[in-house]
Amino acid sequence: MSFSVDKKLLDTLIDTEELYQNAPCGYLSFLPDGTIIKINRTLLEWLGYELEEVLYKKKFTDLISKGAALHYEMFFRPLINANGAVNQLSYDIIKKNNASFPVFLSAVPSKAVDGVAQAINATLYDVSERKLYERELLISKRKAEAERKRFEFLSDFNPDIIWTADVSGKVDYVNKRFFQFFNISEFLAKEVLLKVCIKDRFKLLRCWNTGMKSLEEFKVEIRLENHAQAFEWYLIKAQPYFEDGRPVKWIGSCTNIDSQVKSIQRRDEFINIASHELKTPITSLKAYHQILQRMALPESSRKFLLRADASLNSLEFLVSSLFDVSNIDSGQLSLNLSSFSITKVLEECIDLISATQNSHTIIRTFNSDDVHLVYADRQKIMQVIINLINNAIKYSPQADKVEVGLKLSENGKLVKIEISDFGVGIPADKLELIFEKYYRVSDTTNNNKASGLGLGLYIIQSILKQHQSRVFVNSTLNEGSCFYFSLPVSNWNNSEPLS
Ligand code: ADP
Repeated sequence: MSFSVDKKLLDTLIDTEELYQNAPCGYLSFLPDGTIIKINRTLLEWLGYELEEVLYKKKFTDLISKGAALHYEMFFRPLINANGAVNQLSYDIIKKNNASFPVFLSAVPSKAVDGVAQAINATLYDVSERKLYERELLISKRKAEAERKRFEFLSDFNPDIIWTADVSGKVDYVNKRFFQFFNISEFLAKEVLLKVCIKDRFKLLRCWNTGMKSLEEFKVEIRLENHAQAFEWYLIKAQPYFEDGRPVKWIGSCTNIDSQVKSIQRRDEFINIASHELKTPITSLKAYHQILQRMALPESSRKFLLRADASLNSLEFLVSSLFDVSNIDSGQLSLNLSSFSITKVLEECIDLISATQNSHTIIRTFNSDDVHLVYADRQKIMQVIINLINNAIKYSPQADKVEVGLKLSENGKLVKIEISDFGVGIPADKLELIFEKYYRVSDTTNNNKASGLGLGLYIIQSILKQHQSRVFVNSTLNEGSCFYFSLPVSNWNNSEPLS
């Protein structure tokens, strides 16, 4: 199909001269010696010249910098002669006021019939904005590169292994320490996993995968094989990095914690042995104490016997705490389950403690006639309650009362036991830590002068965990704390003999 276009009609439709003059680019025609013979309005406006100041008065080289003029002579002209065109040359054009702006210049020659170039027609695009953008991009790239180098320098300086990963968890950077440790030239997950102790591999993968999915910081302790083919403990920490609320990266470390772990293990072993070894002499001492109590002794000696009894009791409590901890750590905390009335147990605990101290009144905020049955280890639940009440007394030296409550949940399936005091309280940032083994709040604001091993809450939490439960705490500094936990109400059909 061919189109024949009526030229006259076309001229009425499109004003080519108007297009030439006001095009969004500059048009320039010059003779082979550079003399300008035609220029459009757009380019004149960019340059700040009047038409008369340019036509036949200026050469193309007058409009460009000296360096560009040299380039014109050495490359532009030979190129246009050889190729018949030049494309997108980058020049700086000089304005009348000597300011300059960057352009991309393309040119083709107008040739006579004999093929000799008579003039050169050039098109110029102002690329100031593009150049500006390119410069900004370059500056940002340089900044990012400098940041990256600084990060790499710092991380290489670090004695720990440092790594980063994309949001999906694919490791994309590791520091020098990694290469030294694993003796490989790039990160290979398979090689890394082979160095992880086989017993810790599943734990590591589970933590890694759940962490990556939940986008929450995670920590995991694992054993890695060192150059001497021995295993050492390492702590892997990973933290998601957010930009504008969006996760963009994971940053992580791998720190050698072998000496800390081993010293904790040695301490635990010592406690395990000591608690077992101390049990027998304490039992003998208690037996001798009982014999002495039954003997007819002068009144002055009875006073000492009473003191010995108090000291023996606290010694027994300490040793049994250590014994409990070593049982918990070796997974030997077994439960002796039965159905019993938690109300009755609470009453027993309150009576027992009330008989041994008179600084605090223990107030029952529950109805002693309500029988709530639970299916649990009676002895251990008593231990939990006694420990919580003793703590409530110990950490409220200025107060004179402690409250013990019991509530049934709305659906009647759980009983909640609450022990509240009006004492020193616990700082908010320590509320999670107090359940850790050996942790004691040493903050002066807490005024913690009471003695202890920092094991009670750890034991309580372990006992309750074994019951599929947990102890929680609400506390306000200098006002008091409320520790509470729940137990499922016993099903009559499954219940064992009641106590
Ligand atoms: P211990 O009492 O032997 O230090 P626990 O494990 O029972 O060990 O308690 C850990 C820490 O928690 C205590 O050292 C104390 O700082 C804090 N704590 C426990 N109970 C209370 C309480 N009722 N009020 C204030 N602080 C408490």
